[in-house]
Formats: sequence, C-alpha cells, structure tokens
Amino acid sequence: MFQLQNISKQFNGTNAVDSIDLSITHSQTSVLIGPSGCGKSTLLKLMIGLIWQDTGQILFDGEAVRQSKLLNLRKQIGYVIQEGGLFPHVTIRKNITLMADYLKWDSGKIKSRLLELLDLAQFSDRRLDDFPLQISGGQRQRVSLMRALMLEPDVLLLDEPLGALDPMVRAKLQSDLKQIFQSLGKTVIMVTHDMGEAAFFGDIIILMREGRVIQQGTMLDFIESPGEPFVTDFINAQRSPLDTIGGGSN
Ligand code: ADP
Ligand code: MG
Repeated sequence: MFQLQNISKQFNGTNAVDSIDLSITHSQTSVLIGPSGCGKSTLLKLMIGLIWQDTGQILFDGEAVRQSKLLNLRKQIGYVIQEGGLFPHVTIRKNITLMADYLKWDSGKIKSRLLELLDLAQFSDRRLDDFPLQISGGQRQRVSLMRALMLEPDVLLLDEPLGALDPMVRAKLQSDLKQIFQSLGKTVIMVTHDMGEAAFFGDIIILMREGRVIQQGTMLDFIESPGEPFVTDFINAQRSPLDTIGGGSN
C-alpha cells in the first residue's frame, strides 16, 4: 500500500528520519513504535504529504506521492494527529463534516455518513452540537476518529490516538478501536510508544530508533529473534507491573 524508498528528513541539520526503506501491507494493522523523538510522527507526516522528504520517494498504491496530487491523497487517507487536533471553536458535528462540506457533498449524504460513524464510534448524537472542550478526552478521540473516517478513506493513520488518556478509558477505547479496525478491514498505521499496545493492535510491528527502522515483524519475531540487543532491551523496559510481583528476580 505504501512503499518508502530511502526516505530521509532533516530538521536543523539532524536526521529525524534516516534512510528508511519500508513496505506497509494492505488491509493489515502496522504499528510504529520507538522511543520519543525517534521519528514516528515525522514518518506519518511524510506519508500524507504534510512535509516533504529530503531524499528518496514514497509510493502510495504504486504511485509517487507528489504535491499536485495531494487533495486526492488526502481523500484516501484518514489521519488522526497526535493530541487529536480538533478545532476548538467549531462544534463536534462541524469538526467531523468539515472536509465533506468543503468537497460539497450533499446534505443527505453527509447526514447518513455521520449516522454510520456515530454508530461505529459509539458516540451520542446529543453531543454533536457541543464544542471539543465540553467533552472528555476519550470522547474527543472518538470524534477525531470519526473525522478521519468521514470520507471513507482506504487507509487510516493514527498518531498515538490513546496517548493522553487515563488507564480505564484507554483500555475501553483500545478494545473498541480494535473492533472498529477489524470491522473496517482497512489498512491501518498506528503510532504508539507502548509495547503492550503494539502487541495488542499490530499484525506487524515496526520498531524505530533515532530515525531508523531497527526491526519489522510480529511480536513473536521480536521476542524469539530480536535483530539486535536494543529490541530485547526495549521490550524489557516496558514490562508490565504484574511481571514485577513475586520478587522481580531480574
Ligand atoms: P516521535 O514522534 O517519534 O516522538 P518526531 O517524529 O516528532 O518523533 O520527531 C523526531 C525528531 O525530529 C525529534 O528530534 C524532533 O525534535 C525533531 N522534529 C520533529 N519535527 C520538527 C520540526 N518541525 N522542527 C524541528 N525539529 C523537529
Ligand atoms: Mg510523535
């Protein structure tokens, strides 16, 4: 679905993304994971053409991503940015339908799509005329998801969609999101810094460090055949609290 060929991106002389080659498979959930600052968000922004690489090229469905085709690309890719990115002075309804309004969809089509999304995201229609700050963080993430899905994109990119939520809300939204991904059968690329979350969602996990891809594979690959010590270190550093009960022998 996506092919990244020798992609590099510098900010102020430092490589945020460094010579990355990567293929993202159709109809699977791929999870990008790695320490803060390793280039995950930059990689998503490059894929959707919000910023441009210094070297290499990105193919989407076999075609190079370029400026002249950006609107077309944006229609095919739903994007949930880190922190959700809802417009605070615009109602929930308007946040969701913004792009469809812009593309002059007729009002009947917008209404019926909105109803489908409310059902999918389990969001109450009574909150549609509220503003983003009047609803909870978990609800806002559901709205960001509906907004990203409004145009029925083929691909969904999500940048730490559960990052800022408290654990109970997060657990509920995790299982809801997974169910939504399964029912949609779309290509999903999701960023997280949590290995448990990566294992929960990822058909394929892509581990990054300092702008490079260290290993791409299943969770089992990571555990059984780590490509380098960093892979094991990264997994162990994220051990759950339950593992430490009973003495924590190592
Ligand atoms: P991650 O999402 O993995 O935490 P980012 O992709 O946001 O990491 O950032 C990768 C590196 O690039 C970091 O060192 C960050 O400070 C730098 N960076 C990202 N965006 C910009 C920007 N717009 N200007 C300058 N530096 C940036
Ligand atoms: Mg980020």
